[in-house]
Amino acid sequence: AELALLPVAASAFSRITAAGLLLNFVAIPLMTVTQLAGMLAVAAAAVSPALAELCGYVAHLATVGIVESARFVDVFPQLTRRVPAPDALVTAGYYCGWVLVFAAGGRPAVRAAGCGLAVAAGLGIVAGLGPRGFVQRPCPGDAELRVLFLDVDQGDATLVRFPTGQSLLVDAAGSLRGRSAVGERIVAPVLWKAGVRRLDYLVITHGDPDHAGGAEAVIADFRPREVWEGVPVPGSERMRRIAAAAREAGAAWRTLQAGDSLRVGEVEVVAWHPPPPAWERPRVRNDDSLVLELRHGRVSILLPGDIGADVEAQLGPLLPRSPLRVLKAPHHGSRTSSSAAFVAAAAPVAAVVSAGRENRFGHPDPAVLQRYAAAGTAVLETARSGAIDVCSNGNRIRLQTAAGSAVYR
Ligand SMILES: [Zn+2]
Repeated sequence: AELALLPVAASAFSRITAAGLLLNFVAIPLMTVTQLAGMLAVAAAAVSPALAELCGYVAHLATVGIVESARFVDVFPQLTRRVPAPDALVTAGYYCGWVLVFAAGGRPAVRAAGCGLAVAAGLGIVAGLGPRGFVQRPCPGDAELRVLFLDVDQGDATLVRFPTGQSLLVDAAGSLRGRSAVGERIVAPVLWKAGVRRLDYLVITHGDPDHAGGAEAVIADFRPREVWEGVPVPGSERMRRIAAAAREAGAAWRTLQAGDSLRVGEVEVVAWHPPPPAWERPRVRNDDSLVLELRHGRVSILLPGDIGADVEAQLGPLLPRSPLRVLKAPHHGSRTSSSAAFVAAAAPVAAVVSAGRENRFGHPDPAVLQRYAAAGTAVLETARSGAIDVCSNGNRIRLQTAAGSAVYR
């Protein structure tokens, strides 16, 4: 059953395991003990209640053994492997191989061919052979900057692929209801589908759960070379766990501040905020969000995390003019961000709102939508459009959603 379901496990759970095969060696004898002891208990009840109790106890122990043996996977995590959903062709090859093996009858050549096909496709699944290339349509040119605003409900995650092929993920989403599997169930599969096998950079704008909640899972699956944060918050349990995961994955930890920049091919990554902190932060604050801009020729992609109007007022006058700017609406389109002055200073051609469908905060706020409309900015919402995909060749951008696309020059 384990082998028959390999492609299904890889697609549905992004996880395959060899533990099941080993566990069967434990579970099958224990199951026999449970059944025999159970039947003996019923028979013994007529003779001696004490004996029946003893048999019942043995059945109980065997059952506990079966349930507890599942923890084996927690003790030996190397027996499971997280993998991308296999491509349809690989899955088809895998099952065709098995069909050939069973249908071969007396023809050893057919059996060998089927066996070879199944093993090759199975190794492909284990090795993470999945579809390459980005979700939806690829960029018109190979050497384009690509920015994908993921649809992650109430949270943020933005995947950047540089023209050089390097990758950067700004925030890893998460759930406001504390621990969640958003990182492994939503973010990781999208990254795999986008062809990412290893991240070059992971940025955590700030430590709130809707931005950093999925970071541990993403670090485990994509072993980033570097993890960036803005202001350290020594008291944040979540950030401590993320730092530990980064250490384990061998990622370098960097603190970025206003004025830092990095060139990746033709693209410049500029940090606009926060300035070096003057005091130790007791807790995570929206206004400490790391604000990054990707500059690619005439194109600018501005990613301001959850900053509010105060920080916007400081940044607005500093921002260089850009004829083709895409702005991620600060703080999911909350009323206390996207102030009219900031919208005028950034002058984006398009604003992207990453918020959940019918979220309880009322994001994006109608007043915010009005401010963008007054500035002539097109607004795209992940809640309505799903993931929003931007391609830039430095001169032109193409914005694309599942519903349609728009080109700005
Ligand atoms: Zn947020």
